[in-house]
Amino acid sequence: MQGQMMQQPLLVSSLITHAARHHKDQEIVSRRVEGDIHRYTFGEMAVRAKKLAQVLGRLGVEPGDRVGTLAWNGYRHLELYYAASGSGSILHTLNPRLHPDQLEWIINDAADKVLFFDLTFLPLVRDLAPKLTSVKHFVLMSDRDHLPADPASMLAYEDLVEAESGDYEWPVFDENTASSLCYTSGTTGNPKGVLYSHRSTVLHSYGVAMPDSIGISARDSVLPVVPMFHVNAWGIPYTACMVGAKVVFPGAEMDGESLYELQEAEGVTLSASVPTVWQGQLQYLEASGRRLSTLQRAVIGGAACPPAMLRTLEEDYGITVIHGWGMTETSPFGTASVLKARNLQGTREERYAVQGKQGRCVFGIDLKIIDDEGRELPWDGATAGHLMARGLWVMSRYYNRPDTDPLVDGWFATGDIATIDADGFMQITDRSKDIIKSGGEWISSIELENIAMGHPGVAMAACIGVPHQKWDERPLLVAVRKPGADVGETDLLEFFAGKIAKWWTPDAVVFVDALPMGTTGKIVKAPLRQQFQHHLAA
Ligand code: ADP
Repeated sequence: MQGQMMQQPLLVSSLITHAARHHKDQEIVSRRVEGDIHRYTFGEMAVRAKKLAQVLGRLGVEPGDRVGTLAWNGYRHLELYYAASGSGSILHTLNPRLHPDQLEWIINDAADKVLFFDLTFLPLVRDLAPKLTSVKHFVLMSDRDHLPADPASMLAYEDLVEAESGDYEWPVFDENTASSLCYTSGTTGNPKGVLYSHRSTVLHSYGVAMPDSIGISARDSVLPVVPMFHVNAWGIPYTACMVGAKVVFPGAEMDGESLYELQEAEGVTLSASVPTVWQGQLQYLEASGRRLSTLQRAVIGGAACPPAMLRTLEEDYGITVIHGWGMTETSPFGTASVLKARNLQGTREERYAVQGKQGRCVFGIDLKIIDDEGRELPWDGATAGHLMARGLWVMSRYYNRPDTDPLVDGWFATGDIATIDADGFMQITDRSKDIIKSGGEWISSIELENIAMGHPGVAMAACIGVPHQKWDERPLLVAVRKPGADVGETDLLEFFAGKIAKWWTPDAVVFVDALPMGTTGKIVKAPLRQQFQHHLAA
Protein backbone atom coordinates (compact mmCIF):
# COMPACT_ATOMS: atom_id res chain seq x y z
CA MET A 1 0.00 0.00 0.00
CA GLN A 2 1.28 3.45 -0.89
CA GLY A 3 1.35 6.34 1.54
CA GLN A 4 -1.12 9.08 0.86
CA MET A 5 1.05 12.14 1.16
CA MET A 6 1.59 14.93 -1.33
CA GLN A 7 4.28 14.40 -3.93
CA GLN A 8 6.51 17.43 -4.23
CA PRO A 9 9.86 17.14 -5.97
CA LEU A 10 12.84 18.56 -4.09
CA LEU A 11 13.78 21.49 -6.31
CA VAL A 12 16.30 24.29 -5.82
CA SER A 13 13.62 26.82 -6.80
CA SER A 14 11.55 25.76 -3.79
CA LEU A 15 14.28 27.17 -1.52
CA ILE A 16 13.99 30.66 -2.93
CA THR A 17 10.20 30.44 -3.03
CA HIS A 18 10.26 29.55 0.67
CA ALA A 19 12.70 32.36 1.52
CA ALA A 20 10.59 34.90 -0.38
CA ARG A 21 7.39 33.83 1.37
CA HIS A 22 8.63 33.25 4.91
CA HIS A 23 11.71 35.46 5.23
CA LYS A 24 11.03 38.13 2.67
CA ASP A 25 12.58 40.97 4.71
CA GLN A 26 15.72 39.07 5.62
CA GLU A 27 18.80 40.82 4.25
CA ILE A 28 21.46 39.87 1.74
CA VAL A 29 24.47 42.17 2.01
CA SER A 30 27.30 42.16 -0.53
CA ARG A 31 30.59 43.95 -0.85
CA ARG A 32 30.59 44.60 -4.58
CA VAL A 33 33.49 44.47 -6.98
CA GLU A 34 32.40 47.98 -7.98
CA GLY A 35 33.58 49.05 -4.52
CA ASP A 36 30.39 49.74 -2.54
CA ILE A 37 28.11 47.74 -0.26
CA HIS A 38 24.84 46.48 -1.75
CA ARG A 39 21.91 45.36 0.36
CA TYR A 40 18.47 44.02 -0.42
CA THR A 41 16.10 41.32 0.80
CA PHE A 42 15.19 37.75 -0.04
CA GLY A 43 11.91 39.10 -1.39
CA GLU A 44 13.72 41.36 -3.84
CA MET A 45 16.23 38.67 -4.68
CA ALA A 46 13.47 36.24 -5.61
CA VAL A 47 11.98 38.72 -8.10
CA ARG A 48 15.35 39.39 -9.72
CA ALA A 49 16.10 35.65 -9.89
CA LYS A 50 12.87 35.20 -11.87
CA LYS A 51 13.82 38.06 -14.19
CA LEU A 52 17.18 36.42 -14.67
CA ALA A 53 15.50 33.12 -15.49
CA GLN A 54 13.63 35.02 -18.21
CA VAL A 55 16.96 36.45 -19.41
CA LEU A 56 18.38 32.95 -19.71
CA GLY A 57 15.42 31.91 -21.83
CA ARG A 58 15.89 34.96 -24.04
CA LEU A 59 19.57 34.10 -24.51
CA GLY A 60 18.55 30.68 -25.80
CA VAL A 61 19.49 28.69 -22.70
CA GLU A 62 17.44 25.51 -22.61
CA PRO A 63 16.86 22.95 -19.87
CA GLY A 64 20.06 20.98 -19.33
CA ASP A 65 22.32 23.67 -20.85
CA ARG A 66 25.28 24.75 -18.77
CA VAL A 67 25.54 28.33 -17.52
CA GLY A 68 29.12 29.21 -16.54
CA THR A 69 30.02 31.73 -13.83
CA LEU A 70 33.35 33.37 -13.05
CA ALA A 71 32.37 35.34 -9.98
CA TRP A 72 33.08 36.19 -6.36
CA ASN A 73 30.61 35.75 -3.53
CA GLY A 74 27.90 38.31 -4.16
CA TYR A 75 24.19 38.82 -4.71
CA ARG A 76 24.29 38.56 -8.49
CA HIS A 77 26.05 35.24 -8.20
CA LEU A 78 23.33 34.15 -5.79
CA GLU A 79 20.67 35.19 -8.31
CA LEU A 80 22.42 33.03 -10.89
CA TYR A 81 22.41 30.06 -8.50
CA TYR A 82 18.62 30.21 -8.44
CA ALA A 83 17.88 31.42 -11.97
CA ALA A 84 20.02 28.80 -13.69
CA SER A 85 19.06 25.76 -11.61
CA GLY A 86 15.50 26.93 -10.99
CA SER A 87 14.78 27.24 -14.71
CA GLY A 88 16.13 23.74 -15.38
CA SER A 89 19.55 24.64 -16.74
CA ILE A 90 22.79 23.79 -14.93
CA LEU A 91 24.80 26.31 -12.92
CA HIS A 92 28.49 25.74 -13.60
CA THR A 93 30.69 27.66 -11.18
CA LEU A 94 34.27 28.17 -12.38
CA ASN A 95 37.30 28.78 -10.19
CA PRO A 96 38.90 31.96 -11.59
CA ARG A 97 42.16 31.16 -9.82
CA LEU A 98 42.78 28.19 -12.10
CA HIS A 99 45.32 28.50 -14.87
CA PRO A 100 43.62 29.92 -18.02
CA ASP A 101 44.46 26.73 -19.94
CA GLN A 102 42.58 24.72 -17.33
CA LEU A 103 39.63 27.11 -17.44
CA GLU A 104 39.52 26.81 -21.20
CA TRP A 105 39.57 23.03 -20.90
CA ILE A 106 36.82 22.98 -18.27
CA ILE A 107 34.49 25.41 -20.08
CA ASN A 108 34.85 23.44 -23.30
CA ASP A 109 34.42 20.11 -21.50
CA ALA A 110 31.23 21.36 -19.86
CA ALA A 111 30.16 23.05 -23.13
CA ASP A 112 28.91 26.13 -21.26
CA LYS A 113 26.45 28.09 -23.40
CA VAL A 114 26.63 31.42 -21.59
CA LEU A 115 29.41 32.80 -19.44
CA PHE A 116 28.60 35.27 -16.66
CA PHE A 117 31.59 37.05 -15.10
CA ASP A 118 32.48 39.72 -12.56
CA LEU A 119 34.24 42.91 -13.60
CA THR A 120 37.50 41.59 -12.11
CA PHE A 121 37.63 38.87 -14.74
CA LEU A 122 37.09 41.01 -17.83
CA PRO A 123 40.74 40.68 -18.99
CA LEU A 124 40.66 36.94 -18.34
CA VAL A 125 37.44 36.50 -20.31
CA ARG A 126 38.80 38.58 -23.19
CA ASP A 127 41.80 36.25 -23.45
CA LEU A 128 39.72 33.12 -23.12
CA ALA A 129 36.84 34.06 -25.44
CA PRO A 130 38.44 33.11 -28.78
CA LYS A 131 39.28 29.63 -27.46
CA LEU A 132 35.84 28.80 -26.10
CA THR A 133 33.97 26.57 -28.50
CA SER A 134 30.49 26.51 -26.97
CA VAL A 135 29.89 29.93 -25.37
CA LYS A 136 27.31 31.99 -27.29
CA HIS A 137 27.02 34.97 -24.91
CA PHE A 138 29.35 36.71 -22.46
CA VAL A 139 27.54 38.62 -19.73
CA LEU A 140 29.36 41.13 -17.52
CA MET A 141 27.83 40.99 -14.04
CA SER A 142 27.48 44.75 -13.72
CA ASP A 143 25.70 47.62 -15.46
CA ARG A 144 26.20 49.14 -18.88
CA ASP A 145 28.57 51.82 -17.53
CA HIS A 146 31.12 49.14 -16.75
CA LEU A 147 31.03 47.52 -20.18
CA PRO A 148 34.31 48.01 -22.06
CA ALA A 149 34.39 50.55 -24.90
CA ASP A 150 34.59 47.74 -27.44
CA PRO A 151 31.89 45.50 -25.98
CA ALA A 152 32.36 42.91 -28.78
CA SER A 153 29.33 40.74 -28.10
CA MET A 154 29.39 41.38 -24.35
CA LEU A 155 26.14 42.04 -22.54
CA ALA A 156 25.50 43.90 -19.29
CA TYR A 157 23.71 41.92 -16.58
CA GLU A 158 21.70 44.84 -15.25
CA ASP A 159 20.45 45.82 -18.72
CA LEU A 160 19.25 42.31 -19.30
CA VAL A 161 17.54 41.95 -15.91
CA GLU A 162 15.84 45.35 -16.08
CA ALA A 163 14.28 44.49 -19.42
CA GLU A 164 12.33 41.56 -17.96
CA SER A 165 8.98 41.55 -16.14
CA GLY A 166 9.63 38.91 -13.46
CA ASP A 167 6.30 37.39 -14.40
CA TYR A 168 7.60 33.85 -14.35
CA GLU A 169 6.66 30.53 -12.73
CA TRP A 170 9.46 28.20 -11.72
CA PRO A 171 9.01 25.02 -13.75
CA VAL A 172 8.36 21.75 -11.92
CA PHE A 173 10.34 18.72 -13.03
CA ASP A 174 11.98 15.52 -11.79
CA GLU A 175 14.03 16.14 -8.66
CA ASN A 176 16.86 14.01 -10.04
CA THR A 177 17.48 16.57 -12.79
CA ALA A 178 20.99 18.05 -12.73
CA SER A 179 21.17 21.42 -10.95
CA SER A 180 24.82 22.43 -10.81
CA LEU A 181 28.28 21.37 -11.88
CA CYS A 182 31.57 21.83 -10.07
CA TYR A 183 35.02 20.62 -11.12
CA THR A 184 37.59 19.35 -8.66
CA SER A 185 40.88 21.24 -8.67
CA GLY A 186 42.65 18.57 -10.67
CA THR A 187 45.90 18.48 -8.78
CA THR A 188 46.52 15.25 -10.70
CA GLY A 189 45.51 15.29 -14.37
CA ASN A 190 42.58 17.22 -15.79
CA PRO A 191 39.88 18.38 -13.39
CA LYS A 192 36.85 16.15 -13.04
CA GLY A 193 33.28 17.42 -13.02
CA VAL A 194 30.77 16.55 -10.31
CA LEU A 195 27.14 17.02 -11.35
CA TYR A 196 24.76 17.67 -8.47
CA SER A 197 21.02 17.11 -8.69
CA HIS A 198 18.14 19.18 -7.31
CA ARG A 199 17.36 16.38 -4.89
CA SER A 200 20.94 16.04 -3.62
CA THR A 201 21.26 19.82 -3.28
CA VAL A 202 18.09 20.22 -1.22
CA LEU A 203 18.92 17.25 1.00
CA HIS A 204 22.47 18.58 1.44
CA SER A 205 20.95 21.90 2.55
CA TYR A 206 19.01 20.09 5.26
CA GLY A 207 22.25 18.35 6.26
CA VAL A 208 24.13 21.64 6.57
CA ALA A 209 21.28 23.21 8.58
CA MET A 210 21.14 20.48 11.20
CA PRO A 211 22.28 21.52 14.68
CA ASP A 212 24.94 18.82 14.74
CA SER A 213 26.51 20.07 11.53
CA ILE A 214 27.00 23.73 10.66
CA GLY A 215 23.62 24.42 12.23
CA ILE A 216 22.46 27.57 10.43
CA SER A 217 19.18 29.20 11.50
CA ALA A 218 17.01 32.29 11.00
CA ARG A 219 18.85 33.85 13.96
CA ASP A 220 22.18 33.76 12.12
CA SER A 221 24.02 36.27 10.04
CA VAL A 222 26.26 34.10 7.88
CA LEU A 223 29.41 35.12 6.08
CA PRO A 224 30.66 32.50 3.64
CA VAL A 225 34.25 33.40 2.84
CA VAL A 226 34.57 30.03 1.18
CA PRO A 227 33.95 30.90 -2.45
CA MET A 228 30.74 30.19 -4.30
CA PHE A 229 32.99 28.79 -7.02
CA HIS A 230 34.39 26.22 -4.60
CA VAL A 231 31.76 23.53 -4.04
CA ASN A 232 28.94 26.04 -3.83
CA ALA A 233 30.39 27.79 -0.77
CA TRP A 234 29.78 24.59 1.20
CA GLY A 235 26.07 24.82 0.41
CA ILE A 236 25.53 28.03 2.40
CA PRO A 237 23.76 29.90 -0.46
CA TYR A 238 21.09 27.18 -0.41
CA THR A 239 20.89 26.59 3.32
CA ALA A 240 20.58 30.32 4.05
CA CYS A 241 17.41 30.41 1.91
CA MET A 242 16.10 27.22 3.47
CA VAL A 243 16.35 28.64 7.00
CA GLY A 244 16.09 32.38 6.33
CA ALA A 245 19.53 33.37 7.62
CA LYS A 246 20.96 36.78 6.80
CA VAL A 247 23.73 36.42 4.23
CA VAL A 248 26.83 38.60 4.04
CA PHE A 249 29.00 38.26 0.94
CA PRO A 250 32.61 39.49 1.04
CA GLY A 251 33.13 39.93 -2.73
CA ALA A 252 36.79 39.92 -3.65
CA GLU A 253 38.07 41.25 -0.30
CA MET A 254 39.14 38.36 1.89
CA ASP A 255 41.92 39.90 3.96
CA GLY A 256 41.67 40.04 7.75
CA GLU A 257 40.71 43.71 7.96
CA SER A 258 38.00 43.66 5.26
CA LEU A 259 36.42 40.57 6.79
CA TYR A 260 36.56 42.10 10.25
CA GLU A 261 34.79 45.26 9.06
CA LEU A 262 31.97 43.27 7.46
CA GLN A 263 31.62 40.90 10.39
CA GLU A 264 31.25 43.78 12.82
CA ALA A 265 29.05 45.97 10.60
CA GLU A 266 26.62 43.16 9.75
CA GLY A 267 26.47 41.36 13.09
CA VAL A 268 27.92 38.19 11.61
CA THR A 269 27.40 35.18 13.91
CA LEU A 270 28.87 32.45 11.73
CA SER A 271 31.73 32.64 9.26
CA ALA A 272 33.11 29.80 7.12
CA SER A 273 36.50 29.45 5.48
CA VAL A 274 39.65 27.40 5.04
CA PRO A 275 42.38 27.54 7.73
CA THR A 276 44.65 29.86 5.74
CA VAL A 277 41.91 32.53 5.68
CA TRP A 278 41.29 32.11 9.42
CA GLN A 279 45.03 32.47 9.90
CA GLY A 280 44.84 35.88 8.17
CA GLN A 281 41.90 36.87 10.37
CA LEU A 282 43.70 35.89 13.54
CA GLN A 283 46.86 37.72 12.53
CA TYR A 284 44.80 40.85 11.90
CA LEU A 285 43.00 40.56 15.25
CA GLU A 286 46.26 39.97 17.08
CA ALA A 287 48.04 42.89 15.42
CA SER A 288 45.14 45.34 15.79
CA GLY A 289 44.04 44.24 19.25
CA ARG A 290 40.45 44.14 17.98
CA ARG A 291 37.77 41.68 19.02
CA LEU A 292 34.83 40.21 17.16
CA SER A 293 31.78 41.25 19.13
CA THR A 294 29.11 39.16 17.36
CA LEU A 295 30.86 36.14 15.85
CA GLN A 296 29.85 32.97 17.69
CA ARG A 297 30.89 30.11 15.41
CA ALA A 298 33.85 29.59 13.10
CA VAL A 299 33.40 26.88 10.51
CA ILE A 300 36.82 25.65 9.44
CA GLY A 301 37.27 23.05 6.73
CA GLY A 302 38.83 22.22 3.39
CA ALA A 303 42.10 21.45 5.17
CA ALA A 304 42.94 20.43 8.73
CA CYS A 305 42.29 23.04 11.42
CA PRO A 306 45.48 23.20 13.52
CA PRO A 307 44.72 22.62 17.23
CA ALA A 308 46.51 25.89 18.04
CA MET A 309 43.97 27.76 15.90
CA LEU A 310 41.06 26.01 17.61
CA ARG A 311 42.45 26.93 21.02
CA THR A 312 43.10 30.57 20.11
CA LEU A 313 39.61 31.07 18.68
CA GLU A 314 37.95 29.40 21.65
CA GLU A 315 40.06 30.79 24.49
CA ASP A 316 41.18 34.20 23.28
CA TYR A 317 38.06 35.16 21.31
CA GLY A 318 35.26 33.01 22.76
CA ILE A 319 34.35 31.64 19.32
CA THR A 320 33.20 28.02 18.97
CA VAL A 321 35.05 26.14 16.27
CA ILE A 322 33.16 23.73 14.02
CA HIS A 323 35.79 21.72 12.22
CA GLY A 324 34.33 20.17 9.09
CA TRP A 325 35.44 17.77 6.39
CA GLY A 326 34.14 17.27 2.92
CA MET A 327 35.01 17.27 -0.73
CA THR A 328 33.62 18.31 -4.11
CA GLU A 329 32.43 14.74 -4.59
CA THR A 330 30.38 14.90 -1.36
CA SER A 331 28.58 18.19 -2.16
CA PRO A 332 30.80 18.90 -0.01
CA PHE A 333 29.49 18.47 3.53
CA GLY A 334 30.69 15.21 5.08
CA THR A 335 31.35 15.61 8.80
CA ALA A 336 31.43 18.26 11.54
CA SER A 337 33.12 18.13 14.91
CA VAL A 338 30.09 18.99 17.02
CA LEU A 339 30.33 17.44 20.48
CA LYS A 340 27.97 14.84 21.93
CA ALA A 341 26.52 15.18 25.43
CA ARG A 342 29.09 12.85 26.88
CA ASN A 343 31.97 14.90 25.42
CA LEU A 344 30.72 17.90 27.39
CA GLN A 345 31.43 15.98 30.60
CA GLY A 346 35.13 15.73 29.70
CA THR A 347 37.92 18.12 30.60
CA ARG A 348 38.67 21.05 28.34
CA GLU A 349 41.63 19.17 26.85
CA GLU A 350 39.46 16.13 26.15
CA ARG A 351 36.88 18.32 24.47
CA TYR A 352 39.50 19.99 22.29
CA ALA A 353 40.84 16.58 21.29
CA VAL A 354 37.40 15.61 19.95
CA GLN A 355 36.65 19.00 18.42
CA GLY A 356 40.00 18.94 16.62
CA LYS A 357 38.94 15.83 14.74
CA GLN A 358 37.18 16.29 11.41
CA GLY A 359 33.93 15.19 13.03
CA ARG A 360 31.00 12.86 12.65
CA CYS A 361 28.27 12.27 10.10
CA VAL A 362 24.74 13.59 10.19
CA PHE A 363 21.94 11.49 8.74
CA GLY A 364 22.32 11.41 4.98
CA ILE A 365 25.98 10.51 4.84
CA ASP A 366 27.92 7.48 6.01
CA LEU A 367 31.61 6.64 6.27
CA LYS A 368 33.83 3.61 6.73
CA ILE A 369 37.54 2.92 6.73
CA ILE A 370 39.08 -0.06 4.93
CA ASP A 371 42.49 -1.66 4.55
CA ASP A 372 44.34 -2.25 1.27
CA GLU A 373 42.35 -5.45 0.70
CA GLY A 374 39.00 -3.72 1.21
CA ARG A 375 38.31 -5.14 4.70
CA GLU A 376 36.46 -2.78 7.03
CA LEU A 377 38.63 -1.54 9.90
CA PRO A 378 37.55 -1.03 13.52
CA TRP A 379 36.27 2.28 14.90
CA ASP A 380 38.84 2.52 17.70
CA GLY A 381 40.20 5.99 17.02
CA ALA A 382 43.64 4.52 16.34
CA THR A 383 43.50 2.23 13.31
CA ALA A 384 43.92 4.26 10.11
CA GLY A 385 42.54 3.21 6.75
CA HIS A 386 41.20 4.42 3.42
CA LEU A 387 38.17 6.60 4.00
CA MET A 388 35.07 5.63 1.99
CA ALA A 389 31.84 7.66 1.81
CA ARG A 390 28.31 7.13 0.63
CA GLY A 391 25.08 8.97 1.05
CA LEU A 392 22.26 11.09 -0.28
CA TRP A 393 24.61 13.79 -1.58
CA VAL A 394 27.64 11.75 -2.59
CA MET A 395 28.55 11.53 -6.28
CA SER A 396 28.07 8.26 -8.14
CA ARG A 397 30.21 9.04 -11.21
CA TYR A 398 32.12 11.91 -12.80
CA TYR A 399 30.64 14.13 -15.48
CA ASN A 400 31.60 13.19 -19.03
CA ARG A 401 33.52 10.12 -17.81
CA PRO A 402 31.13 7.26 -18.55
CA ASP A 403 34.02 4.80 -18.79
CA THR A 404 35.24 5.25 -15.23
CA ASP A 405 33.54 3.94 -12.10
CA PRO A 406 34.78 5.73 -8.99
CA LEU A 407 32.76 3.53 -6.61
CA VAL A 408 33.96 0.39 -4.82
CA ASP A 409 31.05 -1.78 -3.67
CA GLY A 410 28.81 1.29 -3.72
CA TRP A 411 31.21 3.46 -1.70
CA PHE A 412 33.22 6.43 -2.97
CA ALA A 413 36.96 6.21 -2.26
CA THR A 414 37.82 9.66 -0.92
CA GLY A 415 41.61 9.37 -1.26
CA ASP A 416 41.91 10.34 2.41
CA ILE A 417 43.38 8.25 5.21
CA ALA A 418 41.46 8.43 8.48
CA THR A 419 40.61 6.90 11.83
CA ILE A 420 37.10 6.71 13.29
CA ASP A 421 36.51 6.48 17.03
CA ALA A 422 33.82 4.60 18.93
CA ASP A 423 31.58 7.70 18.93
CA GLY A 424 31.85 7.99 15.14
CA PHE A 425 34.24 10.97 15.14
CA MET A 426 36.46 10.72 12.07
CA GLN A 427 39.98 12.10 11.99
CA ILE A 428 41.92 12.60 8.78
CA THR A 429 45.53 11.57 9.20
CA ASP A 430 46.44 12.44 5.63
CA ARG A 431 45.56 12.53 2.01
CA SER A 432 46.87 9.26 0.64
CA LYS A 433 49.24 11.14 -1.64
CA ASP A 434 50.65 13.19 1.25
CA ILE A 435 51.24 10.46 3.80
CA ILE A 436 54.91 9.93 4.62
CA LYS A 437 56.10 6.34 4.30
CA SER A 438 59.16 5.78 6.45
CA GLY A 439 60.60 2.25 6.60
CA GLY A 440 57.22 0.77 5.63
CA GLU A 441 55.36 2.68 8.37
CA TRP A 442 53.05 5.66 7.93
CA ILE A 443 53.70 9.06 9.44
CA SER A 444 50.84 11.57 9.46
CA SER A 445 51.99 14.83 7.89
CA ILE A 446 48.93 16.60 9.34
CA GLU A 447 49.86 15.62 12.87
CA LEU A 448 53.39 16.97 12.46
CA GLU A 449 52.05 20.19 10.97
CA ASN A 450 49.58 20.59 13.81
CA ILE A 451 52.38 20.33 16.35
CA ALA A 452 54.61 22.77 14.47
CA MET A 453 51.74 25.26 14.23
CA GLY A 454 51.45 25.11 17.99
CA HIS A 455 54.90 26.71 18.34
CA PRO A 456 54.45 30.40 19.10
CA GLY A 457 56.97 31.40 16.42
CA VAL A 458 55.39 29.48 13.54
CA ALA A 459 52.76 31.00 11.24
CA MET A 460 52.36 28.10 8.80
CA ALA A 461 53.85 24.67 8.27
CA ALA A 462 53.81 21.91 5.69
CA CYS A 463 55.37 18.52 6.23
CA ILE A 464 56.44 16.44 3.25
CA GLY A 465 58.00 13.04 2.70
CA VAL A 466 61.42 13.42 1.10
CA PRO A 467 63.35 10.51 -0.51
CA HIS A 468 65.78 8.93 1.93
CA GLN A 469 68.37 6.27 1.21
CA LYS A 470 67.72 4.11 4.25
CA TRP A 471 64.04 4.72 5.10
CA ASP A 472 62.64 5.40 1.59
CA GLU A 473 61.10 8.62 2.86
CA ARG A 474 61.60 10.84 5.89
CA PRO A 475 59.60 13.87 7.04
CA LEU A 476 60.91 17.33 6.23
CA LEU A 477 59.18 20.31 7.81
CA VAL A 478 58.83 23.46 5.73
CA ALA A 479 57.78 26.36 7.93
CA VAL A 480 56.99 30.06 7.78
CA ARG A 481 57.95 32.12 10.84
CA LYS A 482 55.50 34.57 12.38
CA PRO A 483 56.51 38.19 11.74
CA GLY A 484 59.35 39.08 14.11
CA ALA A 485 59.85 35.51 15.39
CA ASP A 486 63.34 34.06 15.39
CA VAL A 487 62.61 30.38 15.98
CA GLY A 488 65.39 28.15 14.61
CA GLU A 489 65.59 24.56 13.40
CA THR A 490 66.81 23.10 16.70
CA ASP A 491 64.13 24.90 18.75
CA LEU A 492 61.44 23.67 16.48
CA LEU A 493 62.65 20.07 16.41
CA GLU A 494 62.92 20.06 20.21
CA PHE A 495 59.32 21.24 20.34
CA PHE A 496 58.25 17.81 19.01
CA ALA A 497 59.82 15.96 21.97
CA GLY A 498 57.27 14.04 24.01
CA LYS A 499 54.43 14.87 21.64
CA ILE A 500 54.96 12.02 19.17
CA ALA A 501 56.95 8.81 18.79
CA LYS A 502 60.57 9.86 18.45
CA TRP A 503 60.98 8.35 14.98
CA TRP A 504 58.18 10.60 13.67
CA THR A 505 60.28 13.71 14.38
CA PRO A 506 61.14 15.48 11.11
CA ASP A 507 64.72 15.00 9.96
CA ALA A 508 65.12 18.67 9.19
CA VAL A 509 63.35 22.03 9.05
CA VAL A 510 63.53 24.53 6.21
CA PHE A 511 62.25 28.07 6.79
CA VAL A 512 60.67 29.82 3.82
CA ASP A 513 58.93 33.18 3.34
CA ALA A 514 55.69 31.66 2.07
CA LEU A 515 54.17 28.29 1.22
CA PRO A 516 52.69 27.53 -2.20
CA MET A 517 48.92 28.04 -2.16
CA GLY A 518 46.43 26.19 -4.33
CA THR A 519 43.46 27.77 -6.05
CA THR A 520 41.13 27.09 -3.13
CA GLY A 521 43.38 28.59 -0.45
CA LYS A 522 44.95 25.33 0.63
CA ILE A 523 48.68 24.69 0.90
CA VAL A 524 49.85 22.52 -2.00
CA LYS A 525 52.68 20.14 -1.30
CA ALA A 526 53.63 18.85 -4.76
CA PRO A 527 55.88 21.86 -5.55
CA LEU A 528 57.56 21.48 -2.15
CA ARG A 529 58.22 17.80 -2.76
CA GLN A 530 59.80 18.76 -6.08
CA GLN A 531 61.87 21.60 -4.64
CA PHE A 532 63.21 19.65 -1.67
CA GLN A 533 63.51 16.19 -3.21
CA HIS A 534 67.30 16.08 -2.66
CA HIS A 535 67.26 17.80 0.72
CA LEU A 536 67.94 14.65 2.72
CA ALA A 537 70.24 13.01 0.17
CA ALA A 538 73.39 11.71 1.83
P1 ADP B 1 40.69 19.97 -3.74
O1 ADP B 1 41.29 20.20 -2.37
O2 ADP B 1 41.38 18.90 -4.51
O3 ADP B 1 40.39 21.21 -4.42
P2 ADP B 1 38.22 19.52 -2.49
O4 ADP B 1 38.00 20.92 -2.22
O5 ADP B 1 37.10 18.68 -2.92
O6 ADP B 1 39.27 19.33 -3.57
O7 ADP B 1 38.98 18.94 -1.26
C1 ADP B 1 38.67 17.74 -0.64
C2 ADP B 1 39.82 17.29 0.19
O8 ADP B 1 40.23 18.30 1.10
C3 ADP B 1 39.47 16.12 1.07
O9 ADP B 1 39.54 14.92 0.36
C4 ADP B 1 40.55 16.22 2.14
O10 ADP B 1 41.78 15.65 1.71
C5 ADP B 1 40.75 17.70 2.28
N1 ADP B 1 40.00 18.20 3.43
C6 ADP B 1 38.80 18.78 3.46
N2 ADP B 1 38.47 19.13 4.71
C7 ADP B 1 39.49 18.75 5.51
C8 ADP B 1 39.76 18.83 6.91
N3 ADP B 1 38.94 19.41 7.76
N4 ADP B 1 40.91 18.30 7.35
C9 ADP B 1 41.79 17.72 6.52
N5 ADP B 1 41.61 17.63 5.19
C10 ADP B 1 40.47 18.14 4.69
